[in-house]
Amino acid sequence: MQSARPIPPLPAPVRPDPVRDRWAAPMRLAIAEAALAPATGDVPVGALVLGPDGEIIGRGHNEREAVGDPTGHAEVVAVREAARRVGEWRLSGCTLVVTLEPCTMCAGAIVLSRIDRVVYGALDEKAGAAGSLFDVMRDRRLNHRPEVIPGVLADECGEQLRAFFDTQR
Ligand SMILES: [Zn+2]
Repeated sequence: MQSARPIPPLPAPVRPDPVRDRWAAPMRLAIAEAALAPATGDVPVGALVLGPDGEIIGRGHNEREAVGDPTGHAEVVAVREAARRVGEWRLSGCTLVVTLEPCTMCAGAIVLSRIDRVVYGALDEKAGAAGSLFDVMRDRRLNHRPEVIPGVLADECGEQLRAFFDTQR
């Protein structure tokens, strides 16, 4: 007699997410940008600014150690490059994609740049200013409030950071 073979468990269903799925491809590019940071001892955070038609007009990774600049966060680097390319400070119609929830400084820079949408990956519960510790970009007292889409490829983004911090111990 043949014993019944155990039925393997089904993999967790991958549910489509119409809000987040469309940002997965640019988030993968931001993750690739973040991977450039550890070469200089910088925490792997990567950011892109997409123009109104989805083209990349700015990119940056955390370069605080590389440049010795406390403001050298990925978002600020990407926003500066985008503004240079556009030729003005106003980035209306643009989207910023970043692997980690922006801090208060970056959230402030994003509001000042008039970027319309912020897409981020991992939550930063210790310093995040896009819903975790503060919610600067959706503060109704400010006159510009970008749309915020959190948690795009959050696991991949978080894993990249964890892997980096594991090597630092
Ligand atoms: Zn920041």
